[in-house]
Amino acid sequence: MKKIGLFGGTFDPIHNGHIHIARAFADELALDMVVFLPAGNPYHKKEEQTRTDARHRLAMTELAISDDPRFAASDCDIIREGATYTFDTVQIFRQQFPSAQLWWLLGSDSLLQLHTWKKWQTLVNQTHIAVAAREGDNIAQAPRELHGWIGSALQNGSLHLLQTPMYNISSTEIRRRIRNGEPVSGLIDPRVENYIARNHLYR
Ligand code: ATP
Repeated sequence: MKKIGLFGGTFDPIHNGHIHIARAFADELALDMVVFLPAGNPYHKKEEQTRTDARHRLAMTELAISDDPRFAASDCDIIREGATYTFDTVQIFRQQFPSAQLWWLLGSDSLLQLHTWKKWQTLVNQTHIAVAAREGDNIAQAPRELHGWIGSALQNGSLHLLQTPMYNISSTEIRRRIRNGEPVSGLIDPRVENYIARNHLYR
């Protein structure tokens, strides 16, 4: 059976923390493929000023993943109109890969919000979930709504907590550094750094 990881994010920009956990997910779960899914452009005016155009975020993602043959990027969440929900993304991949085992990959900050996602209870029954720890998060302090599911999913193996050490970097920190002219080497792929410079992003 094919095992496919689906990794959604804003990737604004993609950084070494994303690559680090994607590799670790693929290794620990023996995934055949990890599909990076950059989010589309926001349909709310307010966010429009802050999020980099999807075309750039997808291009940077493609640059950063090109060394690992297990990695692919999809524009599935970019080309859909209106709000894109993880629930709908998973239905699309389920149709495309009816017999695969699907894993939704996320960081612990996202996991702690899961109960606010569209049809989250159906979602967690249809996919496996794997979580990478981020600094400051404690899954033991998850919101009450998630308690029952976390307990049973850890037991039945449909929820996996990544064993690899944390890698504390965020896109917010990368954007802050670039804005202030501070170095980002070692934190993002040099090809992404070059792309950012050429396209004058995050200034
Ligand atoms: P921002 O700082 O703009 O919020 P981010 O660094 O959290 O961005 P996203 O593109 O929002 O990056 O993240 C996509 C997914 O990857 C989310 O599920 C997030 O929790 C996870 N993630 C991002 N960075 C890390 C990291 N360093 N360790 C573990 N998970 C991470």
